[in-house]
Amino acid sequence: LDNKEEFTHTTLATDVMRPRRGDQPLTVIEQEGMTVGDLEHLVRTTKYNGFPVITSHESQQLIGYLYRRDLILALENAHHNNEHVLSNSLVYFTLHAPTPSLGGANDPVPLRLFNIVDLSPITVTDHTPMEIVVEIFSKLGIKTSTVVKRSLKLLGIITKKDVLRHIAQLNKQDPDSILFN
Ligand code: ADP
Repeated sequence: LDNKEEFTHTTLATDVMRPRRGDQPLTVIEQEGMTVGDLEHLVRTTKYNGFPVITSHESQQLIGYLYRRDLILALENAHHNNEHVLSNSLVYFTLHAPTPSLGGANDPVPLRLFNIVDLSPITVTDHTPMEIVVEIFSKLGIKTSTVVKRSLKLLGIITKKDVLRHIAQLNKQDPDSILFN
């Protein structure tokens, strides 16, 4: 019996998504508990176009996706509009933020940035064939990222460049020779 065809390997989202095995985990934003300083550090030390927002590192449940440019703008505006937004102000990416306690006049105020989170990023499961992912990117004209998850758990991220790199590999082209525009 020649079953070869059945075993032909189809590339799946899980093969293309980041992180790859051995990579650092994704840079994510936790829904609660991060400070303005933490987020500013994240923007300073990474170049990613965005960050998945998750409930917590323990549960890794996906809430949405936050574009880098939206985060930078929101942090700038917050400092500009309220002098009590300080480096140690807690940031809430939740529907409701706790009411600030009546602290001293110089205490940091918490910041609520739920409204800047994209709550419906395009998501696929890790088992989705790359053929479909390619189609999603081209048909929907997605320029940014697709988040890979199983049920609600965040697994990885695929950007348009990751998809183009995958296509280049299929065509046996040097991935770096492709024009990514
Ligand atoms: P592009 O792929 O267009 O350069 P990014 O700069 O956002 O877009 O992503 C660069 C690489 O890092 C891609 O391979 C992507 O899968 C991965 N990546 C994107 N966002 C994150 C993130 N928040 N944490 C870790 N890796 C990421």
